[in-house]
Amino acid sequence: MTETNQNGRPRIVLATRNPHKLVELSRIFAESGLSVELLGLDAFPDVPEVVEDGLTFADNALKKAREVSTGTGLPAIADDSGLCVDVLNGMPGVFSARWAGRHRDDGANLRLVLDQISDVPDSERGAQFVCAAALVLPNGREAVVDGRVEGHLIREPRGASGFGYDPIFVPDGSSRTTAELDPKEKDAISHRGRAIRALAPVVAALLG
Ligand code: IMP
Repeated sequence: MTETNQNGRPRIVLATRNPHKLVELSRIFAESGLSVELLGLDAFPDVPEVVEDGLTFADNALKKAREVSTGTGLPAIADDSGLCVDVLNGMPGVFSARWAGRHRDDGANLRLVLDQISDVPDSERGAQFVCAAALVLPNGREAVVDGRVEGHLIREPRGASGFGYDPIFVPDGSSRTTAELDPKEKDAISHRGRAIRALAPVVAALLG
């Protein structure tokens, strides 16, 4: 049976300690008409960090959601995302956060990708942001969906919002990088926004 809060809303844990992700997911679920109570991992300090050592975004999202569901006894949602560059055969991919080393240095990661493709002509600089989002229930039921946004990489960073590779990624149909979009504009087209919107009906079907 699904555990609910005092308002009868199912409780779900989001496998993150990042408060921004919790707010973003809550907003997208509310817009999708989904009535659930979302908790962050901060509410469960004893649940250990999950090592993201999968070879696909879906592997990592499922691994995180499984471990968090097991650790909390509640349904869990997790996501994993990154940048896939056509001429790098889809890399950095699952290594996006640590492309230039294990220190999660966004500036160094972005600079390394730019250096690696510096000789690549504008017409061959296609790339996608990809996100997998997984739902795992304590009874073992699982679902995973993905979202992506296609675009291309420019040669020098532009824009101050966003994070990671946003300053060099221009989505198809736009002349601005995702670091030049305001957060609502980015949500509307982003890989994460698309994956979470795709997950909402799955959550409703499995927990509603
Ligand atoms: P995570 O899924 O939040 O762990 O993201 C992994 C890595 O992918 C980040 O550290 C960024 O380098 C990159 N990434 C994921 N989503 C975005 C995005 O929306 N903009 C820019 N970079 C991103």
